[in-house]
Amino acid sequence: MTGDAGLTDAGFRAVAELCSHRQSNDIDYLERALATGLTGTSPIVLEFEQAIGAVYGVPHVVAVSSGAAAVMAALKGFDWSPGQEVVVSPTCPICTVLPLLQHGLVPVFCDVRPNSFGLCPDDLARLISPKTCAIIEVPMWGYPVAVDETQRIAAEHRIPLVLDLAHAHMTSLRGRYLAHYGDVACFSTHDCKFMSTGEGGFVMSQHEAVASRVRSYTRFGNLDGKSPGINLKMGGLQAALGAARAPLLEQHLAIRQGHRQKLKALLDNGHFRELPVTPGGSPSGYALLLQAIGHDGRDLVRHQVSHGIPSDIHKYDNRPLYEYPLLAKYSRHCPNATSLLRSLTTIPLHPDLCEDDLVHIAHVLNRYRSESIEHAYT
Ligand SMILES: *Cc1c(COP(=O)(O)O)cnc(C)c1O
Repeated sequence: MTGDAGLTDAGFRAVAELCSHRQSNDIDYLERALATGLTGTSPIVLEFEQAIGAVYGVPHVVAVSSGAAAVMAALKGFDWSPGQEVVVSPTCPICTVLPLLQHGLVPVFCDVRPNSFGLCPDDLARLISPKTCAIIEVPMWGYPVAVDETQRIAAEHRIPLVLDLAHAHMTSLRGRYLAHYGDVACFSTHDCKFMSTGEGGFVMSQHEAVASRVRSYTRFGNLDGKSPGINLKMGGLQAALGAARAPLLEQHLAIRQGHRQKLKALLDNGHFRELPVTPGGSPSGYALLLQAIGHDGRDLVRHQVSHGIPSDIHKYDNRPLYEYPLLAKYSRHCPNATSLLRSLTTIPLHPDLCEDDLVHIAHVLNRYRSESIEHAYT
């Protein structure tokens, strides 16, 4: 029973799991790609790159075939040799770290600040060594992190700062999009991300020299036979969707942020709170992050999922990355990372949710009582 909320749990599930949604001018752009070229060097790809650059106010954008391709290519913007180290948090998806291994780079796991996905500055300073060739910051689910401080530390040590913003399209800090704080930023446009082209991604940088190295790497080193590279180009059909949708990003942001505010206003349950927002930051509404207070967040995950509200934590079982066999040899004690991932759940905020859906979600969450807390009281 959903009582006053209108939708049944089952009916709701279909809406809540919607990832991509068709937008009004998609077909026009797809037809234009069909007429003008489908390859990664066709004009529609350039159009997509320029549209993204205009939204973010960043001069250099390189469209690529995936978010993983974006990370691989972004690292090629700088000089390093295999065996060098990259500092990264263990709270990010394995998708950020697998490209490092592919390049022969060594991940060094840095703990996060308490109740944040941002790198802990003290731990970061401890881990930087002559072998460090990059620092990667990975804000999750659209929540800002203190990239300005990470940028300061990176600059002090003259180490490039790479931002993996696959989860943080349109997230800002002190009035600027996060991409402005790094030497290079990576995005995914996979169907489940904030902006979808099906599969795809892009890399952006303020620095011409970095962008030109990235572009060359994604195009077989421009086929000059002198520079290494591979083909990581985005195709014309994906770029057409991107070009159609880029001008709608701000509108999309406003809807998601509106959903976050509405849902927060409806929530009234002392068993959880929203993850604290980094001061000066503005979340994109990619998801609402709730943090269980004083108990294991997986109780909350189980509760919402049993009522048809999907959680990424349920889907991906987010754990510190060094718990995975492939990354076990890089294990390091990161207590903040462990307790953060244990405490969280995600709540969908996507633009297709209507007022009734938000009321339904709030109704389910407000009824939540943790089993572990009830046991503690009896
Ligand atoms: C999704 C994701 C990726 C990988 O993107 P794909 O387009 O699926 O290759 C990389 N990093 C982060 C943080 C992601 O969320």
